Amino acid sequence: MKVEFFPRDIEGVWGLDLVVRNQQATVQDLIEAIQPWCDDEQIFKAYLEQKRGACKGCAVNCCRECFVLPDIISFRWLQAYLGLSPAEFLQQYFDPELLAQGLPRLRSSPCIFLQEGLCTVYPYRTLICRLYICTPMTDAAQNIVYAVVAAGIGEFYRLAKQEGYLPQKHGATLQGGYERMLQELVQFESERTDNPFREALNYGEIQLRSFCSDTLWRAVLDTNAL
Ligand code: SF4
Ligand code: SF4
Repeated sequence: MKVEFFPRDIEGVWGLDLVVRNQQATVQDLIEAIQPWCDDEQIFKAYLEQKRGACKGCAVNCCRECFVLPDIISFRWLQAYLGLSPAEFLQQYFDPELLAQGLPRLRSSPCIFLQEGLCTVYPYRTLICRLYICTPMTDAAQNIVYAVVAAGIGEFYRLAKQEGYLPQKHGATLQGGYERMLQELVQFESERTDNPFREALNYGEIQLRSFCSDTLWRAVLDTNAL
């Protein structure tokens, strides 16, 4: 594997750390590396009653209370799968109040794609869905996961604004501090001229290196991969 998560003691519980074993590792490798930990029964999971166990059968189920903003790749996949235009997809599947204020969040509580506890769009689910786990991570691992997710959402946000699917002015009426903070982050990412998601059609085309400073890359790269 080009990327591996592995258990690490984080403030007294078993969380996750990350090692990159190949300089060509991509976002797809990151996704594949985290998936097995959903089935793991040893690492700490904050929302499980017993704090350990597989995600399958979790009573909380993060899909019920998620705050999902799509990244550009999953947005295109979901829209094509549903056979809708971008405007129709946004209108039918996104929170109308937040959308009007410029924050494109999937309808939630529970997620609009959740049925009988299962995701009905699993192959096309968003980066947030693919990379979220309620397990603590080292700073390096968390920084990479956050950077990837934020850039993917930012590129979606840029295109949605460019195409006129989101209001040009935004934010003034957003009530919650969390929502405002998210929007500022997404806005910042959308203005990046070097967003690694630009022009990418799938997660395997996007190199993990492009989300890391030299210091962060040295921290996560296996010395055998140098
Ligand atoms: S990641 Fe989600 S499904 Fe898994 S234990 Fe945490 S809340 Fe439950
Ligand atoms: S899209 Fe699927 S995986 Fe993501 S929150 Fe909704 S139901 Fe869960």
